[in-house]
Amino acid sequence: MKTYKIACIPGDGIGKEVIPAGQTVLEALAATQDAFRFEFTSYGWGGDWYGQHGEMMPADGLDSLRDKDAILFGSAGDPQIPDHVTLWGLRLKICQGFDQYANVRPTRILPGIDAPLKRCRPEDLDWVIVRENSEGEYAGVGGRAHQGHPIEVATDVSMMTRAGVERIMRYAFKLAQSRPRKLLTVVTKSNAQRHAMVMWDEIALQISREFPDVKWDKELVDAATARMVNRPASLDTLVATNLHADILSDLAAALAGSLGIAPTGNIDPERRYPSMFEPIHGSAFDIMGKGLANPVGTFWSCVMLLEHLGETQAARSLMAAVEQVTADPALHTGDLGGKATTVQVTDAVCGRIRGSGAGAKAA
Ligand code: ATP
Repeated sequence: MKTYKIACIPGDGIGKEVIPAGQTVLEALAATQDAFRFEFTSYGWGGDWYGQHGEMMPADGLDSLRDKDAILFGSAGDPQIPDHVTLWGLRLKICQGFDQYANVRPTRILPGIDAPLKRCRPEDLDWVIVRENSEGEYAGVGGRAHQGHPIEVATDVSMMTRAGVERIMRYAFKLAQSRPRKLLTVVTKSNAQRHAMVMWDEIALQISREFPDVKWDKELVDAATARMVNRPASLDTLVATNLHADILSDLAAALAGSLGIAPTGNIDPERRYPSMFEPIHGSAFDIMGKGLANPVGTFWSCVMLLEHLGETQAARSLMAAVEQVTADPALHTGDLGGKATTVQVTDAVCGRIRGSGAGAKAA
């Protein structure tokens, strides 16, 4: 039997509720079959750790994650700590330290979910957004001078490398090729940003020649928001820069019903380092500690984790269990207009997993 070593980093806010829920469903899934099991290690990094140690994670934290098969991450964010400190001190430290350059964000309207667009049928919205996750607007290049003086200056420089753009374009074209519609939209802003984004477009064209069976088009990021709302069925796979995709994927999650449902994988496609899976939402301090958080975004992230491990059948079983639960409005949390708690949704998913006998456990 294979043992997968999984690092769990709940982080802050509702991360502390949804990550244990994710662990519970993965354990329930493992118990249904004999092919693999999980060995979880939890790390108490985040805002509380910062309060005690003055840093979001230990300086050698990456070393303790290096031998893991995957990481399950909650959120980083604390009202007492500036957002750029929490983001750069934990999530980005792991994403960038492990060169998880492809951030993959699937969006679908799951069964039973009442999505906000009137004319959008569930089959019209089935997207995967690929976010460049290692450079661009999040390269960390820039600085401040003359601080506190009237001539104070601050810069954030979006930095794109040919190698960085080539690898994310290749990843996105390959992903589009693997999906039934073989359709990719390259999101850009090369009308206004006339250096890096022009290179981005040129590289998209260059890489497209390696994938003659993929249909692709280009869309300015502002027009892409309108297209997502007005013509959702015209999109399938999208690739965008770090910042553009960050914004588009929140819109995508809202159009699919709730921020509480959407998953993310921070992938190192070359598998040099562990990849990291997390719900798209943040710490949501307004509902933390009340048992109200929707764990579905975490469960779907667990599905992506299983796919990454090559456990395709287990991934399908978990997704089927999640969809059976979302189909029942009595099991919707507050963000979906329901009254169910995190624990009730988690128990229901575990019940469906056990009921379906998800795997083939030897007697
Ligand atoms: P951060 O600053 O850490 O990104 P945030 O609190 O600003 O977090 P999000 O957590 O991304 O923002 O979510 C915004 C709002 O959406 C929350 O305040 C919460 O009301 C709702 N929300 C987000 N995720 C969930 C969830 N899993 N279940 C229920 N409601 C959610």
